[in-house]
Amino acid sequence: MVINENLTTPVFGEYDAVVVGAGPAGCGAAIALGRSGLKTLLIEKFNCLGGAWTTGFMNPFFDCHEKTGIVGELVRELKAKGHFGGFWNISFNYEYMKSILEKKMQEASVEVLYNTTFSRTLADGKNVYGIVAENIEGRFAVLAKAVFDCTGDGNVAASAGCPFELGVDGDYKECQAMTLMFLVGNIPEKYKDGLMIFEKLNAVYEKAGKQIPFRVPYLIPVPNSHFGVIQFTHMYEYNPLNAAELTKATMEGRQQLIDAFEFLTKYDEEFKDLELITSSSVLGVRESRRILGEYRISTDDILTGATFDDAVARVTFGADLHTKSNKGQNCFQVQPYQIPIRALIPKGYKGIIVAGRSISGSREAMASYRVTGNCAQMGENAGYYVAESIKQNIDLLDVKLNLQLTNA
Ligand SMILES: Cc1cc2nc3c(=O)[nH]c(=O)nc-3n(C[C@H](O)[C@H](O)[C@H](O)COP(=O)(O)OP(=O)(O)OC[C@H]3O[C@@H](n4cnc5c(N)ncnc54)[C@H](O)[C@@H]3O)c2cc1C
Repeated sequence: MVINENLTTPVFGEYDAVVVGAGPAGCGAAIALGRSGLKTLLIEKFNCLGGAWTTGFMNPFFDCHEKTGIVGELVRELKAKGHFGGFWNISFNYEYMKSILEKKMQEASVEVLYNTTFSRTLADGKNVYGIVAENIEGRFAVLAKAVFDCTGDGNVAASAGCPFELGVDGDYKECQAMTLMFLVGNIPEKYKDGLMIFEKLNAVYEKAGKQIPFRVPYLIPVPNSHFGVIQFTHMYEYNPLNAAELTKATMEGRQQLIDAFEFLTKYDEEFKDLELITSSSVLGVRESRRILGEYRISTDDILTGATFDDAVARVTFGADLHTKSNKGQNCFQVQPYQIPIRALIPKGYKGIIVAGRSISGSREAMASYRVTGNCAQMGENAGYYVAESIKQNIDLLDVKLNLQLTNA
C-alpha cells in the first residue's frame, strides 16, 4: 500500500556543496570544501561531529600514521591536548575529538546543522542537484552544485537510484557482524593501556554456563582516564538496510553487554569493581551498501599495491572481516595501495560523490579502507577535487590534482 503526498518544500538555501553525514569522511570533506572557499552546508542526524569516532565510541584511530592533511592535524592537536595515545598509541578522547572538529569546521566557515536528518535526494535523471532533509523546523530542500554522501550507508546515492552491492551477490547475511560498543569505568590500573580480553570473558562465560558471542574482544581505554570501551558484542546476519532488524540487533547487543558486564563483575576478581557507564547511541554497522563507481577497487588492487594518478587516499591497514558467524576475524595484510577519486563517483552520475565506507570496492577491499584514517583522508581530498571542478567549471572526472598523501 502507498499514500501519495502533495508536499510543498521550502528551499533552505543554495550552496556550492552540501555534505550529508559528519563522520570521518563527512568532516574531512566539509573542512576541505570550506577551506577551499566553497559555500558549504554539513548536516548530521546526531548532535556532534565525528560519526563512528564519537557517537560510535570507536577507538583506536586506525591508519592515521604519516597522513597529510586533516588526519595529521587531528593527531597533532589531540596529542597537544594530552588526549591521544594509550591503546596501540593511537586512541583518543571522544569529547576532545568533537571539540577539535567543531573548531575546524568554524574556522573553515562551514555551516553545520545538527539534529537534521536526510530524507531524499533531488535529481534530474542522473544529475543530482540537492537534497531534502528534516529537523525541528520541518522539511526543507537544499540546492547544491555537489552533494556528498557521507552517511556510511550510501543513503543519498541509493535515493538517487545509484546501483550498489550488498554482502555477497546481494545476500546481506554475508555482511560483517554488527557491534554495540559500551563504555566501562574503573578499569584496573594494570590494564590502562588496553587488553585483548578473550581469555577473561571466555572464562566468565563458562562459569555462567553461556556461550560467548565473539572470540576477539578488546578492552580499549580512553587515554588519561579510567574509562574506556569494550569492543565485544557481535550480532550476526542482520540486514543493515532494514530498520526493524537494526532495532533487533541493537536490543540483542544490549543484552550481550549486560551479560558480559554482569559475568565479569561477578566471576573475575580483577574486574569486580568495573562500572557500566553506557552503550553508544548508534549501532556499529561495519558493512552495508557499496556503491558501484566509475572505478571499483578490487581485491587484487589491495594485494598488489595499486596506485592511481587521481588518488585521494593511501591505505596501509590490512583487511579485517568480522565473520558472519562466531568465527572471529578473517584478517590479511595488504600492500599499501591508493584509492582513486573515481571510486567515489557513482557510475554515470553527476553532482554526487560518495565518501567513506560505502565507496566502490570489493568486500575485502572495503574491509581494509573502511577504517577512519582512510575515510577522513578520502573525504578531505574528494573535497579538494570537487572544489577544483566547481571553480574551473569542469567535470569532476577531468580535474587533475597531484595530491601528496603521506609525509613519509
Ligand atoms: C563496531 C565498529 C568498530 C570499529 N572499530 C574501528 C577502529 O577501532 N578504528 C577505526 O579506525 N575504524 C573502526 N571502525 C570502522 C569505522 O568506524 C567506519 O568504517 C568509519 O567510521 C566509516 O566512516 P564514515 O564517515 O563513512 O561513516 P560514519 O563514521 O558511520 O559516519 C556517518 C555519519 O553520517 C550520519 N548520518 C547517517 N545517516 C544520516 C542521515 N540520514 N541524515 C543525517 N546524517 C546521517 C551519521 O550519524 C554519522 O555521523 C569500526 C566500525 C565499527 C562498526
